Amino acid sequence: MLYVIATPIGNLSDITYRAVETLHLCDTILCEDTRHSVHLLNHYGIKKPLKSFHQFNESKKEQSIIEALKNGQVIGLISDAGTPGISDPGVQLVQACHEANIPVVAIPGPCAAIAAISCSGLDSAKFQFIGFLPKKTGELKQALQESLHYTGTTICYESPNRLESTLTVLKELAPKRFVVIARELTKKFEEIRRGIAEELLEHIQKGQIKGEIVLLISGESDVSQDWEHMDPVAHVEWMQNTYQITRKEAIFAVAKMRNVSKRDIYNSFF
Ligand code: SAM
Repeated sequence: MLYVIATPIGNLSDITYRAVETLHLCDTILCEDTRHSVHLLNHYGIKKPLKSFHQFNESKKEQSIIEALKNGQVIGLISDAGTPGISDPGVQLVQACHEANIPVVAIPGPCAAIAAISCSGLDSAKFQFIGFLPKKTGELKQALQESLHYTGTTICYESPNRLESTLTVLKELAPKRFVVIARELTKKFEEIRRGIAEELLEHIQKGQIKGEIVLLISGESDVSQDWEHMDPVAHVEWMQNTYQITRKEAIFAVAKMRNVSKRDIYNSFF
């Protein structure tokens, strides 16, 4: 039996009772980095053999793990954080288990992508997860361009070092699209920042951005809308309705898009 066990994405208390119970009954626990996962196990008083299982040894270890599972071993698979297999190792092993008729059981729990969309305020009725964005500019542009055609919310993982270049590309490709940065979720410096790419760029350029980041991009809506020909009030209302954002957020975004002061936009309402 292979248990695929979700673990915290920062706050050690974010683990289910069932995950702790299951870790206690495993014969072996596979993890990306034993030095990292031992903290979690110690915190919950779990004393089980930890074996390293990461992207560089996944293929090499697969056969011996399958053999152990066939011999009746109960194995738990965890990753450094969140749900195994979600931008983390595990997919290949799970496939091999299905091929060998070995039961695979999910022990669900934290996942940064899901935590981020649930508190982003963006449409969650329909979303796509695209994992880490490509590093090379050409590929990044292509990936973002494709995502911008999607009508639901796009969720991606991003590194703090690349956030600025990604937002710069987004500003160029989709200046009016609403974007959310969900940073350091469940941790001390947790932050959810919403705005159009230009606003978020200005924010991150004020200081060095650190930590783990999920970037969310609102879906494509009525592309035929041409805000340049709207009056400011209609533009604010359109932004509000399109992206389900607050009046204040819409006024800030519209001021940026039209390159005028927020006061000018506020005044248009009177
Ligand atoms: N398997 C994990 C999950 O279920 O979310 C994701 C693993 S992936 C290697 C790590 C990436 O997830 C980070 O670079 C970051 O983009 C995102 N991430 C993980 N923890 C996070 C957190 N606490 N806040 C924001 N993003 C996080």
